[in-house]
Amino acid sequence: MNSYVYSFDAPGNPDRDLLGGKGAELARLVQLGLPVPPGFTVTTAACRQVLEQGCRPAGMAGDLAHHLALLEERTGLALGGVERPLLLAVRSGPASSMPGLMDTVLDIGLNDETVVALARVSGDERFAWDCYRRLVQMFGETVLGVPAASFAELTETLLADRGATGIPALGAEGLRELVERGKTLCEVVAGRSLPQDPRKQLDLAIDAVFASWQGERARLYRRRFGIPEHLGTAVNVQAMVFGNRGATSGSGVAFTRDPVTGELGDYGEYLTDAQGEDVVSGARTAVPLARLRDIDLPSYRQLRSIMCALEHHYRDLCDIEFTIEDGRLWILQTRVGKRSPAAAFRIAADLVEEGMITEDEALVRVTGDQLTQLMFPQLDERSAGRAVAVGLAASPGAAVGRVVLDGATAVALATRGEDVVLVRPETRADDVPGMVAARAVITARGGRTSHAAIVARGMGLPAVCGVEGLGIDMDTRRVSLNGQRLFAEGDVITVDGGSGKVHHGHHRTVPSDVTRWLDGEAVESPLVASVSRLLAHADRTRRVGVRANADSGRDIARALRYGAEGVGLVRTERMFLGDRRTYVERVLIDSDSEREAALRELTALQRESFAVLLAAADGRPVTIRLLDAPAHEFLPDLTDLAVRAESAAARGCPDESLQARLAAVRRHHEANPMTGLRGVRLAIVRPELVVAQATAAFEAAAELRERGRPFDLELMVPMVSSAAELSVVAASVARAAEDVAARRDRVPYRLGAMVETPRAAVTAARIAEVSDFLSLGTNDLTQLTWGLSRDDAERSILPRYLDEGLLRVSPFATIDQEGVGDLAACAVDGARSTRPSIPVGVCGEHAGDPASIGFLAGIGATYLSCSPFRVPVARLEAGRAAVLAEGCPPDRFDELDLPFLAAVG
Ligand code: PEP
Ligand code: MG
Repeated sequence: MNSYVYSFDAPGNPDRDLLGGKGAELARLVQLGLPVPPGFTVTTAACRQVLEQGCRPAGMAGDLAHHLALLEERTGLALGGVERPLLLAVRSGPASSMPGLMDTVLDIGLNDETVVALARVSGDERFAWDCYRRLVQMFGETVLGVPAASFAELTETLLADRGATGIPALGAEGLRELVERGKTLCEVVAGRSLPQDPRKQLDLAIDAVFASWQGERARLYRRRFGIPEHLGTAVNVQAMVFGNRGATSGSGVAFTRDPVTGELGDYGEYLTDAQGEDVVSGARTAVPLARLRDIDLPSYRQLRSIMCALEHHYRDLCDIEFTIEDGRLWILQTRVGKRSPAAAFRIAADLVEEGMITEDEALVRVTGDQLTQLMFPQLDERSAGRAVAVGLAASPGAAVGRVVLDGATAVALATRGEDVVLVRPETRADDVPGMVAARAVITARGGRTSHAAIVARGMGLPAVCGVEGLGIDMDTRRVSLNGQRLFAEGDVITVDGGSGKVHHGHHRTVPSDVTRWLDGEAVESPLVASVSRLLAHADRTRRVGVRANADSGRDIARALRYGAEGVGLVRTERMFLGDRRTYVERVLIDSDSEREAALRELTALQRESFAVLLAAADGRPVTIRLLDAPAHEFLPDLTDLAVRAESAAARGCPDESLQARLAAVRRHHEANPMTGLRGVRLAIVRPELVVAQATAAFEAAAELRERGRPFDLELMVPMVSSAAELSVVAASVARAAEDVAARRDRVPYRLGAMVETPRAAVTAARIAEVSDFLSLGTNDLTQLTWGLSRDDAERSILPRYLDEGLLRVSPFATIDQEGVGDLAACAVDGARSTRPSIPVGVCGEHAGDPASIGFLAGIGATYLSCSPFRVPVARLEAGRAAVLAEGCPPDRFDELDLPFLAAVG
C-alpha cells in the first residue's frame, strides 16, 4: 500500500521523485551499510497534496505515528520522554537540490522538562542548554518567522551583558538565559512561542518545510534554475546526533575532490564542538579537513575510507556532511557535489582517465553553460596590481561592480542596470535574491563549503569568502579591514573569485585560458586538456553540424578556429550600416536613372565584401542572405525630414529636393514596419535589389574561381511565406546567374528559404519543392508565433510574465518547444516529406542556446548556426544531445557496484 512516510531502511530502490534527493540518498547510504542516524522521510506526494488542497492528506497522521513509534523503539528513546528523550532533526529534501533555500530545525523534542532529562542523561548541562537555545532560535526563525537579525541582536546583547566573547564562552546558566530571552522574543515578534509539546513541534516543523516551498526565496531559486513549480519537497526526520558535545565531537563537510579546481585530495572543513549548520553557515570559520587527522585519527581514517567508497559508488565528486559524537562518526548526508565549471570539466575528464566513467558519461556531466563561463574573461593580474583584501577563492570568475551591503540594495541597483558586488558578513538563505542580482559576492566569514560558496558555485557567480578581518558597519555603510577603512557602499571594486583577491576600482580583464586555447594559443593546463578532450568527443558523437552567423572575414576566421564548419547566415543588411545606408535609400526612393547608378555602386561594394567572406570560409559553405531589414531602417527619419522641409518653407525658401524626398519617404512609411516591406517582399517589390546582390555574389565567386580558390555559395531569401514568393525571387537570381555566366563563368550555387513565418513552417513541404535548403529563423518565428515584438517584449512584458510564472524563461532566449518548437518540427517534417534529404539548418539565436540545442538536434536539424563565440558551446551541447538521445548513461544513484564498501565498516 502507498504510504506518505518511508523509513530510511525501507527495502527497494529509493525513488528520488517521491523521497526527494536527500531522502533517497539517506536510504541508499543505509543500504550501503554506512553509519547513518535512523529516521524516516515524509514524501513529496504528501507535500503536493498539502500545497494543492491546503491540508494534510488522510492517512499521513497514521503513517507518521507509526514511523515515530518505530524510531522510538529502534533508538530506545521517547519523543518528549523525561527519562531518555528522543531529539529529532527536521530537514527539507526536494528532488532537485536547492542548497540552503529550505530550512532545517534541529533538536526538536526539547522543552523545559526534557532539557533537564538531556542534561542528566548526557551528564552535561551546558550541552543540553546549548541544544535548547539552538532549537528556540531555529524554530523561531524557520517556523515562527522571527527575523534572524533579531536573534543575532538578542545574542549580542546577552553576550555584552555578561562580558562574554561568544556563545562558547557562555556556561549553562548563560545559555538558559538565552533560551528564556529567545522564547520571549518569539512571543513579542510572532505572537506565539515554541510549543512545549514535542509532537506539536514536529508537526509545525514539517508544515513549515512544506510551506517554504512556496516562499519567495524558493520561487526565485526555482525560476533561476528552471525547477518545475509543482514538484514539492520531501521532509526528512532523523534522530539527532550531537557534534556539540565538547572536544571529542564536531561537525564537518568533506569533498572527494576540490569543488573549485577538480583536483583530487582532502577537501572540506571540520569544526570541533559544533552542530548541524555551523559549518555550512560559516558563522565560525572551520579548520581544513586534513587537520582532522591530528584531532581524531580513527574517525579521520574511517571517513577517508567512506569517501573513497562513496566516490566509487556514485562515480563522481561526493559532498559528505558528517558529525562526530564523542569519537563516533556519523554520516548525515551525501550528494553528488556542486562544483565550479572548471571542476566539472576536470572531474569528468579525470574520471574517464581513471576508468570510472565512459566518455559519453563524461560528456553529459558538463554543460554548455559551464563552457560559456570558462570562456568569460579573467582579471589581468598585472594591471590589477596589489589586492586590497584577500579571502578564499570560493567560486571562480572576475567581476566588477559597486559595493552593496545588503540584498535589497543589490536587487534595487541591479534592476536599474547597475553591476553590483554583494558584501556580507556571511550569507544565509535570505541573501539569495541579492546574490542572484549581484555580479560577485564577498563574505567576511565562512569557508569554501559555506552557504555563500556553495550557492555561488552553483550559480557560476564569482565569490571570495572568509576575508579575515573584514568588518561591515551597516550604520555608516562602510567596510573595513582590520579596523582600517577599506571601501564604502557604492565604491567600484573588482573581484577575482579564482584567486580570492579583491581590488579597488575597475580593472582590465584578459581572455581566459580556454578562450586563448580556442584562439589557437598553446596553453598547457589540466583544465584546457579536459575541455579539449570532451569537445573532441562531442565532435565525434554529434549528428548535427555547427556553423556560424558571421558578417566579416574576422568573424569567420574566429568561427573556424572555434570549430565552425561553415557560415549559416550572413546578414547583408549589416553591410549597410552608418553612411552606407544611403546606397539602399537611393535604390528605394530615387528616380530610375539615379537608381541605376546606386545599384551599380551597391553591386561593387557587395562584390568586394562577399569575396572576402567566401575566401575566409576557404571552401566551406557560406549562406548569404538577401537584404532583410525593414525598408524604413534604410530611409531618413520622417519627422526629421518634415521639420527640415517645413522650416525651409517657413523661412520663405522651400527646398524642392527636400520636399520630393519627404514625399517619397512618406510613401514608404509603414505603421508596422517589421511586418511590412522587408525580406522576400522587398525582393519582390524591388527585384533589381535581388539581381544586384546575386550578381555581386556570383561575381565574387567567379573571381575566386579565377584565382583558383575554393568556394561554396548559398543564397538565402528571408521572410518567405509561400513557395510562389520563393519562385519569383529564384527567377531573379537565375537571371543574374545567366548574366554572370555570359560575361565570366557559370557559378554553382544553392538557393534556399528561411522559415521564419508560421505560414512558411506550415507549408514547408511546398516551399521545399522549390528550395535547395531551408533555414529556421527562430527569432522571427518566435516573434510572429507569439505576436510579440522581439525588440520590445524583453523590456516590459516578459519580465512581468516571468515574475507571474506565466513563462519559465524568455522564448527569445530558449525555444518555446510547445509552440514555436512544434512549428519548427512541423517545418522539418514537412520539408522532408517532399524532399527527404533537404538540409534544414537553424540560424536564430536559439541555435547557440544550451537549453535549446538538444531540442533542435532532436527535431532533425542538419546544422546549427550561431554567433562565433557560441560555436564551442553548440558543439558540446550537440554532442551531449546525441548521447542523451541514445538513452541516458546508467543512473549513478542506481549502480550497486561496491568493491570498496567491505572496507568501510
Ligand atoms: C531569425 O529571425 O531567426 C533570423 C536569424 O533572422 P534575423 O534575426 O536577422 O531576423
Ligand atoms: Mg529573421
